[in-house]
Order: sequence, then structure tokens, then C-alpha cells
Amino acid sequence: MPISQAFAKRLDAVLGSAAQCFGTPFHIYDEQGIHETCTDFDEAFADTPYREYFAVKGLPNPTMLRILAGRGMGFDCSSRPELALAAGAGAVGHDICFTSNNTSADELRAALKLGALINVDDVAVFDKLVDIGEMPDTLCFRVQPGKAATDAGASYLGDAESAKFGVPVTRLVEVCARAQRLGVTSFGLHMMLGSGFMSTEPFLRTLDLLLEQADRLRAELGVTVEFVNLGGGLGIPYEPTQPPFDLAGLGRAVTDRLASWEREHGVRRPRVLFESGRFVTGPHGALVTRVVNRMSKAREYVGVDAGMSALMRPAMYGAYHHITVPEGADRPIEVVDVVGSLCENNDKFAKQRALPAVTEGDFVVIHDTGAHALSMGFNYNGRLRPQELLLRLDGSVERVRRAEEERDYFATLDFEPLRLIPHDGSVSAS
Ligand SMILES: *Cc1c(COP(=O)(O)O)cnc(C)c1O
Repeated sequence: MPISQAFAKRLDAVLGSAAQCFGTPFHIYDEQGIHETCTDFDEAFADTPYREYFAVKGLPNPTMLRILAGRGMGFDCSSRPELALAAGAGAVGHDICFTSNNTSADELRAALKLGALINVDDVAVFDKLVDIGEMPDTLCFRVQPGKAATDAGASYLGDAESAKFGVPVTRLVEVCARAQRLGVTSFGLHMMLGSGFMSTEPFLRTLDLLLEQADRLRAELGVTVEFVNLGGGLGIPYEPTQPPFDLAGLGRAVTDRLASWEREHGVRRPRVLFESGRFVTGPHGALVTRVVNRMSKAREYVGVDAGMSALMRPAMYGAYHHITVPEGADRPIEVVDVVGSLCENNDKFAKQRALPAVTEGDFVVIHDTGAHALSMGFNYNGRLRPQELLLRLDGSVERVRRAEEERDYFATLDFEPLRLIPHDGSVSAS
């Protein structure tokens, strides 16, 4: 879906002056829209204990994280820099959940130091925790549903056997029993079946699979699972024809399911956690670019002043991002490829898209860049990442990250020289 009409209107009002003040390109985020989505979450899950842990990788910007923390969200992290960002936004202890995979001992130590809720992704990772010797009271285990879930008809799991995430269900009881012996008293379970789901069904399937494991753990170990983390992956409609994800419907269905489970089993229902990124901020961002070149070859090309370093989803996944031309209302329509400057033919924001005719200097706005956009950007070809702006509730526009400059690109060339002579093992400067 294009950005909301309300955001489009707010953006229109500031576009020209923001471009003049800050220059293009920029990602701009809509504080109002983000607040509205936070409210939607709270309303959808008002009748069951829940918490959303925003997936930091979606929008790792301190100002943005502080807004979300202010709305009571926790943070889902999977690396040390993400942990630092969460802590910087004021998150402490179980405000942070650490859902990493192929995790190193150093990363675990960093998460333990913050008191984060650790999501154990494998038996090998649990072994590392044991070696560190600071077993937390509370642990969450990421469950790999394996073939059983695929057999149960969860086709969106794809090839469950090749999934690298999680403790296989066949080893879950064994590893939880070890945790219990080592003093863990509070248990949670986590599962994430995928990303960008547009229906509630995968999440209800996840809940069922986790409740099934909770039953097993109670029967075999006497363990009460206190929370279930249904992962991220709530989709947003990138295409204009897609209906939005039914968050209110998911809230109702999850609440009903838990209420009946509670009645059936006579134990308190687990709290529900999410670690959604895209759904929270994705629709509330746009990438504002200007046309650098109009080029005419076998196709018509619109070259803009941003590229894959700012947003690589179209090139990487063939993802659709809606594009508008703010001054294009009365222009004739052309079919064009919208391209960046990378020496890669897939550096295209859109292929064969019908857009109002543009000329050099015109604005071209690429929608839904509030998550997994700047954060996925890379520096291949010496292409630098653009700045981030925030459209505040009062209509003011604030820079929340500067654009990368050449000094950033060259920063890692400022280093301690080091030379190893392997035959005698000596190490020296230069
Ligand atoms: C990427 C990821 C998320 C967030 O995914 P969204 O599609 O942005 O909701 C959450 N949890 C884990 C473990 C992830 O890898």
C-alpha cells in the first residue's frame, strides 16, 4: 500500500522546505503514524497480557527507538551494537530480548550483562551459557518446529528441515531439563515461521505449536511456560491492492485461544510477546529522492539520487515499493525503470512502472521505507547511505541521522598497522 493518505498529506506539506533545508535524498519517518500503530497494538491485545519487542534491525535509530520505548515497547536484538542501541534508548533487563543465532560467547556475555531475556537458539548456545557460568533465572527457547509442523500443513514454513534457527522439538525437553537443573525457574518459548505474512493464520499456528510444547514441558518436567514469543513477521501491504494485516483480528483470535487453553488446562495463560519490526515502522517511512538523469534507451529510465545503499529490498527480493511523483498530478503517464547509480543492473527501485512524466530535479518518493530500508543498506561501489529525518507530531522536521560522508567510508582505513612473521611468530608494527 502507498503510505497512508494522512502521512502523504503531512509529507506534502514539508517536502519542498525539507529538501531545501536538508538536501536530498532522505528517509523521512512519520511520528504520528508510528504512534497510531503502537495504539493499534495496545488495543488489539488489550484483553491478554502482551508485549511487543520492536526488532531493532528494522529501524536502528536511537531517536526512533526512544519513541517506541516511550510507548512501552521492549527491543529485540541480535547483535552487540543492537544491544547497545536498546540500552541507549533506556531499555533495561527484560525490556530487551536477545534473539540471535549462531551466537558467540562474547555476545551472550554482553546480553547477560544487560540482564536481557535470552532466547536460546540451539543446544550449542545453551552449552556456551553453561560454560559462562551465569545462568539467568529466566530463559526463552527458540523452537524449530521441524518436519512435524510442515506435515501439519504449515506450507509457509517452506523447507523446515533446512531452517537454521531454533532448538529442534525433539531436543527441547532435554535442554529445558538441563536448564531446570541449573536453576532456571522461569521459561518461555519462541518461534518465528517467516516474515511478511499478510494473514493471521501463521501466527495462530505458531501459538498452537508453542502451546503444544508448553503442554509437553508441563507434563514431562512440571515446567509452566510463562510466555510465548510469536516472533516478528507481521506483514504490511506494499502493493496498493493488498488489504492490510488484520491486527485486531489476530488480537481477538490469540486472546480467545489463550482463554480456552487456560480453561482447558487450569493453568494461567502465558504472556504473549511479539518482536515485530516491519509492521511497527515500515509503512511510516518514505525515501525522498530527486531525479538526476532522464535516460532513453530500449527503455525509459529515471535515474534518482539514491540507490541500493538506501533501500535494497527491490534489488534483493524483487520487492515492490510504491512510488509517487508529488508534483505529477497533471503530467502524462510514462512507463519507466527507476534506477540508482550502482554498477549493478539490479539497482532499480522499480521496473516498467507507470509514473507521471518527470524531468531532472523532480521529486520521486519511494514508499514504505520505515523498516528494513536504511538498515539493510551497504557501501558497495562507494555508495554512501543517506540521512534520516523525522516528521514530528507538531509538523517540524528533525534530522535524526546525518548522511554518510567519505570520511565514514574511509574510517576503517585508520588502523594500527600490524605485521606477523609466521616463521618466527613475531609481530610488529608496520
Ligand atoms: C527479522 C526478525 C524479526 C523482525 O521481522 P519483521 O518482519 O520486521 O517483523 C523479529 N525476530 C527475529 C528473530 C528476526 O530475525
